[in-house]
Amino acid sequence: MSHLLKVENLQVSFKTYGGEVQAVRNVSFHVDQGEVVAIVGESGSGKSVTVQTVMGLIPIPPGKIKGGKITFSGKDITNLSKREMRKLKGSEIGMVFQDPMTSLNPTMKIGKQIAEGLIKHQKLSKAEAKQKAIELLKLVGIPNAAERYNQYPHEFSGGMRQRVVIAIALACAPKLLIADEPTTALDVTIQAQILDLMKDLQRRMNTAIILITHDLGVVAEMAQRVIVMYGGIVVETGTVFDIFERPKHPYTWGLLESIPKPDVKEKKRLIPIEGSPPDLFSPPKGCPFAPRCKYAMEICVEKMPGEFKISNEHIAKCWLNDPRAPQVEALIAAGR
Ligand code: SF4
Ligand code: MG
Repeated sequence: MSHLLKVENLQVSFKTYGGEVQAVRNVSFHVDQGEVVAIVGESGSGKSVTVQTVMGLIPIPPGKIKGGKITFSGKDITNLSKREMRKLKGSEIGMVFQDPMTSLNPTMKIGKQIAEGLIKHQKLSKAEAKQKAIELLKLVGIPNAAERYNQYPHEFSGGMRQRVVIAIALACAPKLLIADEPTTALDVTIQAQILDLMKDLQRRMNTAIILITHDLGVVAEMAQRVIVMYGGIVVETGTVFDIFERPKHPYTWGLLESIPKPDVKEKKRLIPIEGSPPDLFSPPKGCPFAPRCKYAMEICVEKMPGEFKISNEHIAKCWLNDPRAPQVEALIAAGR
């Protein structure tokens, strides 16, 4: 089966006064139709830049796609023009950000903002678009949708605004929804409602979702597969079961330390791991996690680990998975 979204060896950098930041280094992953894939990692790990590049949202310059290929529905979208990208965004890929106000126009009625896309991309008449917009407001759980249609964003609560943003994103029945920390700015109870809504919509409409989150409880609840990023690279990827039950990368172990087993669904945030993330002005030639890794070996500093295939879907970029590496138990016994 061909993948809905395929990202191959993506490299993205930014020119700054301090030099060139290599934000994304050789990132590859895929998303299949109807599947929820979570991307996790600390801030600065490259997860937002990765999805923003997919959406054509990084400013070029100072940003630059230095290499790689992005394919969506079989079409190369790596270097689409702004116009082509707008078309794709209005019809096949929807996006939800952390702060709903960044996606909403504060001077425009909510209903109009939903209807606009329907008129432009689906060629609906004004009356049809209004009808459909009200239906969408109902679908995302906004009470009194017909009256709410005529209100402005400031008349909505944060949670209700995010529902509106989701309605806008879903207006054109996209094949892929990219959600970058969609609930981080919301209260815990509202967070749960928004996630339930996304899950429900994903099931009903078979929309694929890329979910960027800090919350491993959310990952366990929502995703089928997980991509763990660190220092601009994918350090581990696998099914939710692979990542939570048999992780093969010390960074993932660090992330999971806060999770009380066996109930991984309990809400927990990523715990900070000691030390600071790598300097992306001049990334290390070896494993980017080496300075913080208590299992680091000589080779780790010398050479970037390759992709060790643990099983069909499970890949870890860590030298410990090399058959010649010492067993972790031996390293612990030796005082690591
Ligand atoms: Fe640690 Fe080496 Fe694995 Fe990197 S490659 S995570 S430094 S053991
Ligand atoms: Mg981010």
